[in-house]
Amino acid sequence: MKYETVIGLEVHVELATDSKIFCSCSAHSYGAEPNTHVCPACCGMPGMLPVMNKRVVELAVTAGLMLNCNINKYTTFDKKNYYYPDLPCAYQITQLNHPICTDGCVTVKTSGGVRDIRIKQIHMEEDAGKLVHGGKYSYVDFNRTSVPLIEIVTQPDFRSAEEVVTYLNKLKSMFRSGGISECEEGAMRCDVNISVRPEGSEEFGVRTEIKNMSSFEAIERAIRYESQRHIDALEYGTEELVQETRRFDDVSGKTSAMR
Ligand code: ADP
Ligand code: ZN
Ligand code: MG
Repeated sequence: MKYETVIGLEVHVELATDSKIFCSCSAHSYGAEPNTHVCPACCGMPGMLPVMNKRVVELAVTAGLMLNCNINKYTTFDKKNYYYPDLPCAYQITQLNHPICTDGCVTVKTSGGVRDIRIKQIHMEEDAGKLVHGGKYSYVDFNRTSVPLIEIVTQPDFRSAEEVVTYLNKLKSMFRSGGISECEEGAMRCDVNISVRPEGSEEFGVRTEIKNMSSFEAIERAIRYESQRHIDALEYGTEELVQETRRFDDVSGKTSAMR
């Protein structure tokens, strides 16, 4: 049987602001001593009060306009709870119910033709800290905590790795020219949601989410590997597909279950 690959993306972009999203600490700490760009607010001390960085809203709106989104006049933040040492508050401030931008569209042109990719939403959120593992101990660096991000979520409209990479390159060049982000290494991170279905079918298949790709090339390889894994499972019964998050290994070129 012939199969079609279906992909939706969640892209995180670090915004080019001077300061963090809810405090006045510098957002640029690349190469700095650990925990030197921190304050009670971004370290989640008791009684801290987040104050919105206006520039973050301006850049998120600009990105939304570039991606032909509706800009919502009513927008709210939510707390997403998770307990992990890289998150001092044990919650991340993000936008779940009323994101700033919704219902956009980007055109992607590849050897397969032209396709409209629908943007589901763009929301603002804060980054987490960094864990550094060394020998017997793990260390935490809060310099990156509360660095502003936007997350751009598409509908499951991609049908090939080529479309995905074309889209990512388009975002990158738009965001650079618009001053949204320099999109340098590590400042643009992409989670790939992927499923396959028999060609002609309207129904979506079971999807997996792939994280941990360090380059566009790795994203392309991960998509090819994962879609073949799905096809083998359906066609030859090699395994049972379950909805899960998987990590991509650059060396083996394979994905494996993460949690
Ligand atoms: P959740 O709320 O579980 O995170 P979303 O509806 O927000 O799910 O979708 C997350 C991402 O997964 C979106 O980019 C969406 O396009 C994509 N997606 C959803 N269903 C599928 C599917 N069957 N195949 C591929 N991608 C999918
Ligand atoms: Zn701070
Ligand atoms: Mg989601």
